[in-house]
Amino acid sequence: MAYDPNNIFAKILRGEAPSFKVYEDDKTLAFMDVMPQADGHILVIPKFPAESLFDLDPDYMAAVALTTQKLAPAVKRAFKAPGIMVAQLNGAEAGQTVFHLHMHIIPRFNGVDMKLHARQLADFELLKQHAERIKAEIK
Ligand code: AMP
Repeated sequence: MAYDPNNIFAKILRGEAPSFKVYEDDKTLAFMDVMPQADGHILVIPKFPAESLFDLDPDYMAAVALTTQKLAPAVKRAFKAPGIMVAQLNGAEAGQTVFHLHMHIIPRFNGVDMKLHARQLADFELLKQHAERIKAEIK
């Protein structure tokens, strides 16, 4: 499948679709997942047109990894989460629904199941507040 430049994350990167940003640098962007599987669920994406791991430039993969390592502790602190899940899906068969590579960063708690994947839109005011909480914890 060829990269679709009109996928929703490409639109977010071009500023054509809104997002609740938490972090940006020259190679990556991070924002709130609008259908979070837990409060504080964020996504890290490369500023590079890649569907998945298989077509991402290695320098951008490294940048995504570094941003993930920078933001996961911020999410952990912001939500006092004992565990953080980092996940990345490649291909519809693996559950991928948006075809621009992204890393999920999801707070996890003992005995609390994650909500279903990409199902329920969160309250936008709450997402805005959560983005601010995470931004305040980025070091
Ligand atoms: P995946 O299934 O791994 O491709 O994950 C795609 C993720 O993107 C899901 O967790 C969705 O909830 C999330 N998502 C879809 N549209 C948007 C959007 N416009 N802004 C933020 N997150 C989104």
